[in-house]
This record gives sequence, structure tokens and C-alpha cells, in this order.
Amino acid sequence: MEAMARDRGTLARRRRTRRIQVGTVPVGGDAPVTVQSMTTTKTADAEATLTQIYALAAAGADLVRCTCNEEAAAEGLARIIPRSPVPIIADIHFHHEMALAALEAGVQGLRLNPGNLRKAHEIKLVASEAKDRGVPIRIGVNAGSLHPDLYKRFGGATPEALVESARMELAYFADVGFEDVKISVKASSVPLMIESYRLASETFDHPLHLGVTEAGPPPAGLIKGTAGIATLLAEGIGDTIRYSLTADPVEEARAGRRLLEALGLRERKGLDLIACPSCGRAEVDVIAVAAAVQEALESRHLPIQVAVMGCVVNGPGEAREADLGIAAGRRKGHLFIRGKIVRVVPEEDMVAELVAEAERLVAEGVDARLAAADEGAEAAAAADRRDLLQAKGTDANASEAKVALIRKRFGGDTASD
Ligand code: SF4
Repeated sequence: MEAMARDRGTLARRRRTRRIQVGTVPVGGDAPVTVQSMTTTKTADAEATLTQIYALAAAGADLVRCTCNEEAAAEGLARIIPRSPVPIIADIHFHHEMALAALEAGVQGLRLNPGNLRKAHEIKLVASEAKDRGVPIRIGVNAGSLHPDLYKRFGGATPEALVESARMELAYFADVGFEDVKISVKASSVPLMIESYRLASETFDHPLHLGVTEAGPPPAGLIKGTAGIATLLAEGIGDTIRYSLTADPVEEARAGRRLLEALGLRERKGLDLIACPSCGRAEVDVIAVAAAVQEALESRHLPIQVAVMGCVVNGPGEAREADLGIAAGRRKGHLFIRGKIVRVVPEEDMVAELVAEAERLVAEGVDARLAAADEGAEAAAAADRRDLLQAKGTDANASEAKVALIRKRFGGDTASD
């Protein structure tokens, strides 16, 4: 539907990086920014891991990483990869043989941590094997596991130290002619992460994988992840992203996808619900109505922006950019499409009417649904708005009646002063 493709603004031009290919998914160059997440199951348990991979893909993950920390995990990868809906990246720490085993299993990407995989000949052997198989590697630098020599040389995990770690690893790769690389310089500190990626972006032309590591549980983890990732994306930096949350990884994939959609970097696949924060003018419980709308619409996977507004006085105007919306007033719901009132319905039916209209709007398009607007809807809505505006100064929210009831409960004077 044309409604879903509207451009609502642009960010800084994306910094051009070289393009690599992770299985079927391009990363870098002019490829769309991709979403990653990581499984939390034992990779050796192929069935449980595949179940999680399918859930992650459904939530918006383009790429999924699985740990490869033991022989049984590599065997699990061999069973998972042929059945996975998205390319699989093996996460490698400490043991280069695990990288070699993951390559044998057929992974589409590797992530190496240069902080704990330090022997030059082992790194070169892995890069050489990856080169022969056309498998890219992410140099995954992490402030928390920086090589001790670099920590000493730079006096801590500074942006310069993180970038130097990636540069050293790149030099090993270059020795065997391997350049199929993306880079991450993650930290749990958001300012350090931002500065490190800015420096990495100036230093390398490889694609960058963005993330705030060990961000913790939501909502704080989501805020930290968004602060770091969105800041860089808005500057045009970043080719693939991962939220690191202490939560079901589906939350990570969903957050990544939603962030990219919110920034206009990926086309919207599902619902974008906007709702007013409510205020003293609200004519309905906005939180409850928004929750009911979200529950009803999310499972329908409609690529649509829907607004829930607490009052008819300001709602339709403030949400005129939304594809569809509802505003409450005088025990009625004003249903609007792109700010134009198309129907006035009883308050108790407003959620059901909104959901039905959302389905029709996606099926028939904006012009057809505007043409099907109720005659007189605009006039009825205008009358409601006028009445409410005239009620300004009187008690539009029946607050004084409620105060009288409270006082009665406590046996006090029921007269309001
Ligand atoms: S739409 Fe109405 S109720 Fe919601 S915040 Fe704006 S003025 Fe308040």
C-alpha cells in the first residue's frame, strides 16, 4: 500500500563502506542496515536453537549469531544451518579450533574476539580458511575484554585502544590476503561506544556492526542501546546493528527492527502505533485504549501507522500524518484517515471500528477509504469539538463529581469548593 512507503524525513547521508556478503544478506555499501540478534539456547540443541532462530527471524532479525564454544555446538551448527531461515554467524572466543569447526559446519559468518584469541598463527589460519570458503569475519572488539597489552599501552579501554585492536587484527588478516571483514568496537558505556565507532568510521572503510554491549534488562537496556546505536545511525555510521539485552532475544530483534523503521532506514513491516501521552483534556483512558489497539492490530501484521488520541479537540490535527487514527470525545470516537474524519462511532465500539477500518485501509488503499467516508461525519465531529471547547472552564473531565465521591467515601463534606 502506497501509504506505507511515505518518506517522513532523512538522516545524514550514510557513510559509504565496502560491501560484504553474509550468506544471502549483503552488509555495507548501499545495502539496507540489517538487524542481528543472538540465540540463548545451547547450540548443541539444534531443535531448541532453530525454534529460537525462527522466532528471531519473525521478529525482524536478518542475521542470527550462535555461540560455538564446544565440539557439540559445532555439530549443532551443522544441523541448524541447512534449516535456518537466515544466515548463521558463529561466535568464537578463546579457541580457534572452534572457528575452524564452525567453518566445517557451513556457517555464513564468523565473529572473532581479538581480546581473547591472540595467537597470530591461529588468527591467520582461521582467516585463510574463511577466505577459501568465502566466509566473512567480524572483528568483534569489546572494551570489557580488550587485549591486556593494549589496555596498558593506552592507559585503559579508550576509543584509540579499541580501534587499534581492530587494526592489529586487520593486519593479520592482510598477511593472508583476507579482507572480507566487518568491525565492531563495543562498550557498555554509551559515550565510549559512540566515540569508538566515530573513530573506527574515520579509520576504516569496512562495514561497522553497532552495539552497546551488556546494556542490561529493559527498559534501561533499551534506552542505552538506542542512545548509542541511534546517535551513530543518525550520523550516517553503521551497517548492521544488535541490541544486547538481558531479556528474551526476540526483544532484541524487535527493538532493532523498530529502531530502523523509526529512523526510516527500513520499510515498515508491521504496526507503528502512535498515541498521545494523555493530559487533562483526555476524554478516555488513553493507556487502556492504546493497549487494546496494539493487542488487536499487532498480530494482524498490518504495515500501517495508527494513532490513538485522547481528545477530539487536538487529536486528529496532531496525528494528521498517521494513516489511520481514533480520537475520543463526548463518549464517541472520531475515526480519521490522514487527519480527515471519516466516521463518528460510539466510544465502546471505537477499538473494534478502528481495527476493521485498518484492515479495509490496507486492502483498499487510502483514496478508496476516504471516498467511503460517512456523509456528515466531518460536521458531527466539528459539533463535538465545538461543544468540548465551549465546556472549557467547566469540568470536562467530571473531576469535581469524582472529588465529591471521594469525600463521601471518607464521610466528609460532599460540596466541592
Ligand atoms: S490529544 Fe488531547 S488528550 Fe491527548 S495529549 Fe493532546 S490534548 Fe491531551
